[in-house]
Amino acid sequence: MTEEKKLTAREWMPAIDPSQIAIVLVNTSHPGNIGAAARAMKNMGLNQLILVDPEDFPSGAATARAAWAVDVLENARVVSTLEEAVADCGLIIGTSARSRKLPWPMLDPESCAERVLGEHKTNKVAIVFGREDSGLNNEELQLCHYHVQVPTSPECPSLNLSAAVMVISYELSRRARFVADAVKAPEDEFWDQERATAEENERFFTHLERVMIAIRFHDPDNPRQLMQRMRRLFGRIRIDVMEMNILRGVLSNIEWHIKHRDERREPPRGASIEEIEEALDDSLDHGSEASADQQ
Ligand code: SAH
Repeated sequence: MTEEKKLTAREWMPAIDPSQIAIVLVNTSHPGNIGAAARAMKNMGLNQLILVDPEDFPSGAATARAAWAVDVLENARVVSTLEEAVADCGLIIGTSARSRKLPWPMLDPESCAERVLGEHKTNKVAIVFGREDSGLNNEELQLCHYHVQVPTSPECPSLNLSAAVMVISYELSRRARFVADAVKAPEDEFWDQERATAEENERFFTHLERVMIAIRFHDPDNPRQLMQRMRRLFGRIRIDVMEMNILRGVLSNIEWHIKHRDERREPPRGASIEEIEEALDDSLDHGSEASADQQ
């Protein structure tokens, strides 16, 4: 008979720093699910829980379901918005039972674990879970760099919230043991700059939107999916703080020029690139005629 053997702490989570990985539960309605999620986290070696606007917390039902993981509940951070929860994170992954209208970069639980392991030592990571009845809304999903979906039977695709937390956390711990002997250098380890955090990204998107409105490229009354597409684009690139400063600088200079322009010719709203180029050529021609006249 083989003797039952517990893993030592080193064998268990050799490649993970749990202080860098937060599980975020958005607007949970049943406190029992919060307790069960805390237990699943602690089972798998995680301990950073953030609750966004929970309906009923603290609660006896949560404590009862948490069992040995009451400390995870006691240390949970409660905030009112998802933006606040992920403000200091450089990698945000949203979980979803179904694909959405605007496709987003998708991971499965295994590649999610790989990415989190590879990045979490240099970026704080948030893995975000939605409401029991309606999941995460589009705005919340668009705050995420990636979406992760647990493959499930089409006849019953949606997992219980705490079961979803368990699957994602289990994959993370499994991957941590798997890579323990051969931890690959994470791509961020030889990068010279840190990734921009969610808060810096939000400031950038606000600035970008303001400038796109000012240059009449973006019509807020008819936004179509412009900002969502911009979010998806920059989410895919995951720019670092230096690149972010450059882009913010470019935007600020554009604003300066708008403020100080002496010629009030504006491209018509919704003009095609060809029309804008034509208009630019015209004004450049006039400009060179004028300077030729001066000579
Ligand atoms: N009816 C909701 C299901 C919400 S289930 C919907 O269609 O979105 C509650 C939460 O559990 C989800 O927001 C998600 O965070 C997680 N979840 C449930 N099933 C999942 C799956 N198959 N893959 C990833 N996350 C899942």
